[in-house]
This record gives sequence, structure tokens and C-alpha cells, in this order.
Amino acid sequence: MTQAQRSTEHLIIGGGLAGSMLGLRLASAGKEVTLLEKERGPHHKVCGEFLSREAVDYLLGAGLDPLTLGAVSIRVVRLAVRRTVVEAELPFPALSLSRHALDEALLAHAEHAGCNAHRGAIVENLTPNLNSWEAHLRDLSLIHI
Ligand SMILES: Cc1cc2nc3c(=O)[nH]c(=O)nc-3n(C[C@H](O)[C@H](O)[C@H](O)COP(=O)(O)OP(=O)(O)OC[C@H]3O[C@@H](n4cnc5c(N)ncnc54)[C@H](O)[C@@H]3O)c2cc1C
Repeated sequence: MTQAQRSTEHLIIGGGLAGSMLGLRLASAGKEVTLLEKERGPHHKVCGEFLSREAVDYLLGAGLDPLTLGAVSIRVVRLAVRRTVVEAELPFPALSLSRHALDEALLAHAEHAGCNAHRGAIVENLTPNLNSWEAHLRDLSLIHI
């Protein structure tokens, strides 16, 4: 069987928040970038889904408004230990948004900027080869970087 091979200037493995933001930045800067995400579509993640003011600013700066994606505001922090519950106002405004929505929106935003994203692409290993790297995918294809 012949292995499918291709090459890319920049390769990102994982289309979570970090990978998609990097893909967005590189594509926006005119770089050729390929992103591989193992999941085939939007999916839930284990996460508190709390967006601090700083995180919201990063997203707004990248052109994504969490409120338009369905984020809700959080104004209080509540601590519960057995039957004792204490509550206090947060010292800053915060938001909450599901990772199902946020990760998908950020990945779609990166794709829109020109990032070449492949879903359902599982990287099995990454190996050095002289001055470059090779990513070996589960479907037996190979990407040279
Ligand atoms: C319990 C918990 C609660 C949290 N609560 C919060 C919170 O409230 N607020 C907050 O800001 N942060 C929170 N975090 C932290 C937040 O989840 C991480 O900072 C964030 O997910 C990191 O993004 P990432 O893109 O590096 O990784 P991830 O979001 O994990 O993305 C990695 C991506 O890589 C893909 N991938 C993995 N292996 C491969 C492979 N071999 N080939 C191809 N793709 C692959 C995965 O499918 C995934 O989409 C929490 C974390 C945990 C564990």
C-alpha cells in the first residue's frame, strides 16, 4: 500500500484552544499552516468553562465575542463544604461558555482565516528526520514539516 504524503510549513497537532488560536494567528500572518484534530466534530471537554476577564479579552482580540456564542455572565463565587456554603461577589466580571461551543467556534475561525484544518486526523507519532519532522497519522498518511 502506498503511503499518502504531503508537506506543510507549520503543523499544529490538536485543535483545542491553544492549537486553534495558534492556527488563527499563523494563518492571519499569511503563513501556510496545517492543523490536525483527532475529533471529527464539536465535542464536550472536562472543564470548568469559566472565562476570566483576561481570557475574554484574548478572545475579543482574536475577533470572537463569547456573548454572541451564548456565554452567560458570572457574578459570584460560591464555596460549599458539606452543609456550609459561603458566597462572595467576584472582584471582576466573568463569563461561562461551553467548550463544545467555544472550541468549535475558535477552530472554525482559524479555518476561515486560512488555517488548513483536518478533523478526524489522529497523530500517532512525531519523529525527527534530518532537519525536518515527520508526523505519522493513524490512517498511515505522513506529513513532512
Ligand atoms: C478539570 C478541569 C477544569 C478546567 N477548568 C477551566 C476553567 O474553568 N477555565 C479555564 O480557562 N480553563 C480551565 N481548564 C484548563 C483548560 O481546559 C485548558 O487550559 C485548555 O483546554 C488547554 O487547551 P489546549 O488547546 O492546550 O488543550 P485541549 O483543549 O485539551 O486541546 C487538545 C486537543 O488536541 C486534540 N488531540 C489530542 N491528541 C491528539 C492527537 N494525537 N492527534 C490529533 N489531535 C489530538 C484533542 O482532541 C483536543 O481537541 C480546566 C482544565 C481541567 C482539566
